[in-house]
Parts: sequence; C-alpha cells; structure tokens
Amino acid sequence: VVMAITLTGCGGNMQKKQSTTGPFAAQVDSLMSLMTLEEKAGQLNLYAGSWEFTGPVPKDVNNQQKFENIKSGKVGAMLNVITADGTREAQKLAVENSRLGIPLLFGYDVIHGYKTMMPIPLGQAASWDAGVAKSGAAVAAKEAAASGINWTFAPMMDIARDARWGRMMESPGEDPYLASYMSKAWIEGFQGSDLSDIATIAACAKHFAAYGFAEAGRDYNTVDISMQTLYNMVLPPFKAASEAGVASFMNSFNEIGGVSANGSVLLQRELLKGAWNYQNGFVVSDWGSIGEMITHGYAADTLEAGYKALTAGSDMDMEAHIYENSVEELVSTGQIDENILNDAVRRILTVKYQLGLFEDPYRYCDTKREQTDLLTKEHLNIAREAAKKSIVLLKNENDLLPLAKKGQSIAVIGSLASSKDVPLGSWRAQAVENSAVSVLEGIRNAVADPNDVQYTKGYTLTKSRRAFIYELEFVNGDRSGFKAAIDLAKKVDVVVLAMGEDCWQSGEGRSQTDIGLKGDQMELMNELLKANKNIVVTLMNGRSLAIPELDEQVPAILEVWHLGSEAGNAIADVLFGDYNPSGKLPVSFPRNVGQCPIYYNHKNGGRPVTNPHDAGMVFWSHYTDSPNSPLYPFGYGLSYTSFEYSDLLLSSTEMGNNEQITATIKIKNTGKVAGQETVQFYIRDYVGSVTRPVKELKGFEKITLKPREEKEVKFTISYETLSYYRADLTFGSEPGRFAVMIGGDSQKTLTTDFRLVD
Ligand code: BGC
Repeated sequence: VVMAITLTGCGGNMQKKQSTTGPFAAQVDSLMSLMTLEEKAGQLNLYAGSWEFTGPVPKDVNNQQKFENIKSGKVGAMLNVITADGTREAQKLAVENSRLGIPLLFGYDVIHGYKTMMPIPLGQAASWDAGVAKSGAAVAAKEAAASGINWTFAPMMDIARDARWGRMMESPGEDPYLASYMSKAWIEGFQGSDLSDIATIAACAKHFAAYGFAEAGRDYNTVDISMQTLYNMVLPPFKAASEAGVASFMNSFNEIGGVSANGSVLLQRELLKGAWNYQNGFVVSDWGSIGEMITHGYAADTLEAGYKALTAGSDMDMEAHIYENSVEELVSTGQIDENILNDAVRRILTVKYQLGLFEDPYRYCDTKREQTDLLTKEHLNIAREAAKKSIVLLKNENDLLPLAKKGQSIAVIGSLASSKDVPLGSWRAQAVENSAVSVLEGIRNAVADPNDVQYTKGYTLTKSRRAFIYELEFVNGDRSGFKAAIDLAKKVDVVVLAMGEDCWQSGEGRSQTDIGLKGDQMELMNELLKANKNIVVTLMNGRSLAIPELDEQVPAILEVWHLGSEAGNAIADVLFGDYNPSGKLPVSFPRNVGQCPIYYNHKNGGRPVTNPHDAGMVFWSHYTDSPNSPLYPFGYGLSYTSFEYSDLLLSSTEMGNNEQITATIKIKNTGKVAGQETVQFYIRDYVGSVTRPVKELKGFEKITLKPREEKEVKFTISYETLSYYRADLTFGSEPGRFAVMIGGDSQKTLTTDFRLVD
C-alpha cells in the first residue's frame, strides 16, 4: 500500500517555496508557474538516444512514441546523443515543438576524456595531483561541450577496495581523503568556475552510494555495509562534491540497508538535501534502476517504484520509464504532494538555467568548435603530462631504470606493447579506436636511433577484441611467438616487456575472480628471464593486480595503467628518465585474490597473537597460506632517487579540544637526481566510541627536492583532523591517545603520538 507522504515527512529542509533563493530563482519560479502537471512530470524523464550515437532518435519499438514525447515536452534530458548536429536535431524537437520550449540536457559518460583520452581515473588518482584531475577534466569538458554535450556522468567517486570489481578503474581508489581530493578537482575541471562558460559542462557525483562495496566484488551485486563505514569511508567524497557545487548526483544500482539506493530517504533527503543542504542541483537515477526496485523486491510495481524513488529524492529517471508512467497519477491522486514534484523540477530547471540553455538552447551545438576544439596539440600535451604523473614505479633493482636513449639495444616484447587501443582504456567516450601512442611507438620516438629498438609480440593476450563485450576470449597455450621473443631477448641489452590487462577486462560489468596476468604472459616472462635478466615490465591494467611472482622475478616494474592517448610517449618519458616517476598507488595491491577486499585503513581483529607469516603483524586473524599484508601498500611508489625521513616532531604532546598542534618532519633527497615525493600524513585514533581504523590518511604534500636537498614539511592537526562519525553518527572527536604517522607510503612511516584532552 502506498501511503501519501508530505513534505515534512520526507526529511530535508524542503520549505514550501524553495525557489525564492538560489541561482535563477525568479526565472525558475515564473517558468514553473506556467507549467502543467504533465509538463512538470516531463522534466523528470531522461531518454537514451540511439546506441550507435548517430542521432537523437531512439531505435527501439517505441521509437515513434518517444519521438512524440520529446516534441510534447514529456522529456527533460537525453543521454548518448552526441555530435553537434545530433544534439541540435534533438534539441530542436523539444524547443520548437513543445508548448514551453524548455531545452533538453544532453548527458554522456565523459569519464576520462572525450576524444583526447587522459589516464583512467584510477591512474589519475595515482598522481595525487589535483592539477592532473582538473586540467584533464577541463579538456574533456571542452571537447564534449563542442560536440553538443552539456552534462557528464562523472566523476565516479566510489571507494574501491576489491580488485575483483571491474569498476575499480573508474574510481579514485580505496581512501576517502584522496578520493575527496581528486573528485573535487575533477568537478572543478568539468564545471570551471561558471557553468555558463561554453567550455564547461555540468558534472555528476556518482554512484550514491556504496556501489563499490558489491559483495564478492561482483558488479551490481548486493551491498551490506555498516553505518560507520558508510559515513566515514564512503560518503566523504560525496559530501565534498556537494560542497564543491557539483550540478548533479547519480544514485547507485545497489541496495543499502535493505533499501535500494535510489529509494533511500536517508541518503537523499536526510543527508544530501537535508544535512548537506544541497539545493541547486538534482539527483538522477542510474540506467533503468528505478525499474530495478521491483527486481530488488523493494517495490511491487511501477506505481510503487515511482512513489518510493521520487519521495526519497530521486529527481530524474534514467531510462526506466517509471516516472513517465507513474508521476502524474501519483501527484494528481494526492499520493505524492505536488511540492515534491516541484522540488525535483526546480532543481533540474536550475541546472538548465545555469548552463545558459534558456538563453540559447543550441549554444553547445556548434559544428565549428567541433572541428577545431577536439584532439588539439594542446590537449594531447595535457594528456601526456597527466599520463607521466600517473605512472608508479613498483620496483627498480640495481637501478636498471632509467634506460639510456643512446647506445643501448632494446627489445620491446608483448602484444600489449604494440597496441594502440588498449591504452585508451575502458569508458573511453568518443576516442578513435587505435588512436593511442603505443609503448613501442613511444620508445621509438624517444631513442636517438630507432634501429636500436626491435619488437616482437611474444604472446597474444586476446583472440578478438571488441568494445562492450563482457567475455573476452583469452589466448592460452600459444607458444608460437616465444622463440622469436627469446632469440631477440638474447641479443639485446634490455627487454621492455609489456604485460597486463586488456582494457575491456575492466569497466562496468567486468568483474573477475582471477586478478593475475591472463593467458601466456607469465610463461613467456619465465622463458625470457632465462635469456636476459634485464627485464623492465610495463604493467597496463585497470585494477590492482595480484602479481607476486612478477615482483619476485623481474628487476623493474612500472605500473602504467591505461594511460590514454599519449600513453607510449609518457611511458618513454619515464623509461628514459626525462620524467622521474612520482606516482603513488591509490589502492593496495594484493598478493592473491583471496585477500580481497584488502585496504590499508582496516580495523584490527581482537586476538593479539603473532602471525608467523607476517613479521610485525600481531593479530591472530590470518591465513595459513598467505601473509595478511599486501604486495604493495596504499601510497607506495618509488623514484629514481631516494628520500630519507627524519625528525618527526609535534609542537605539543597534548592538545586541547579547541587547539591545533603541528607535526613537522624533514625529508632529504639522498639520491643522485632531483625527484618529487608525496609526503603522507596518517592518524590513528587508538580508542573510540566505535572501533577505529589502524590508520587514516589526513593530508599529504608533494615536494620536489634536488640531490642532497632537505625540506621540512608541516601538517596541522585540528579538531577536524581527529573527528569522525561516532557511535551515534555525530561528527566529532573523542579524547584519548592518537598516533601521528608520516612517510612515503602507508606502511613505511615515522610514528609518534599525543593525547587529545577534554
Ligand atoms: C552506469 C553509469 C552510467 C550510465 C549511463 C550505467 O550503467 O552505471 O555509471 O553513467 O550507465 O551510461
């Protein structure tokens, strides 16, 4: 039974007349006063264009009906309609035919670039650099905006702890502080300082919330999460997004606390639109998800799904067609208070006004800009900068890296090395297939004499590759390329072996139970090692991988993710030392899939007995066949130089509740070349009203040091630094002992402590 719900009953601070403040309030009010119930309900519908992206007309059986609906003002937005011409055509349908001529929004998944591809978001997060995120998103926005798009479904800010989950590639990693930092920068990049600037587009904070916590890492699976983990780990980036003025939120497919996320009053009414006071943007549901309330077993039928989603604060229905078949009826029969509908419409119209669509609905449909603003030299330069800063040096025994550009013969081996497509990554918008600079090309571009570089593919990873297929067919047991590779390895000074994942191994719906290296890659590596010990592995992947044997056997490993259009050039910049690697892992790398989910900011078990597998770890919770610790921890990454940390000092060992203290530490470059270090600052709260993680990132600073140069870095510890959502879910700190840990990764830190007193 659907019960009528009134404004006061649905949480949030929805006063009767909300639109008297906020941007464009007067315009929104006056437009809404002209709108019929049907027209208002129409604004809530988000339709998909044709899957082939060729034009505005949906290609399914209801094609004609959808077309008519757009013309009669029953559609508020479209997705997957691209190109300046395509969007113009669709916009015309709405603007020239509907009674009030309200323009459409055009949404699209512009995740890490539109045509010029930046590194995948997980890779960008490894830069720990807001500049990388911001400039890349600004390029993506400019290119998308020149192609008719005014709204991106990005950034995704889901915390990802489980490498089985394919969407780890789209995430800023496992830590809420870093995720908030990166997400805020992505939003600033997409939206600029003013949404009416035609080089910017509206952003969307997704997926609200806890989508990354799918059980067993299986995409779309159910989520069961504690309130403390939700508040302290999952929600911080979303709160930061709200504070950054993100134009929209997208809720998630999963259930949370037994409620499908799009029906969560807690998330949407009480937190987002209530406590966080998010007023000028709207919430869109994910693809078809309002319909999935029924499959979740949370709604019996269309009417109940529409009722539950809208009253809970889902303002727009993406392709479920539930709202178009329920909202008018629900409101006209009084089951939903019209003010709930009004609130949703007001939010959507506000964004349309902010984008300048009422001034000129065709301002994003500019075929001239579409010719000039895409894939420019300037954009490719930004992509190369972003890519080199995203690379993480995982291992470099005996300083095998950097390589010499002259006088060193190099074998480049592996089908991934010549691929011009894999580096573009999953979620690649309108990237042209095979348009990336391959590893091989990058190396050839960099060396003095390209004859010093020879290539053979050695292994083939996949049988056939096609976007959007869920099962890739891997090649297994094909040794036909081994002999040529071994012969070549014998002749050269050094082997660059490209290994990793096809880009379609990660992304939506691409969860895996095996996170090792597939196919014949490891076998070839073992053979090559017998021929030449000097092997540098460039590892391309969209998730953290379990690669213990690789780590054990090859002397040098560069984590190069899927780095985008300029991948090969950026990899060469690092291989030859033009850029000293500075990336740090945004996720822990497990030793084996059985350790998943694995993350540094975990809690302790209760049994204090030494685990024989794990020196220094003192908890009985352990495996009989594996250490607890990751292969590479969160925050880890080497450089061609070395840094020494010393003299960790606190300004006081006691802190009053309204006071601040500072932690200072010295970092010295003890190597031979200049380098950049990311100094990471962690806190541990030993005892709380609920148990606390063993450490949590609370700040970081990137510094550049010349050889033998030393710098002092300071971190301020305030009430805020020590606060968290406590047992009663209020935000605050609790007196007691705290550890301060500062270092170059989450495990190797100098540690001291202090007391917070009442
Ligand atoms: C994804 C979203 C995406 C949407 C539109 C969904 O399947 O989960 O992240 O924005 O499709 O393409």
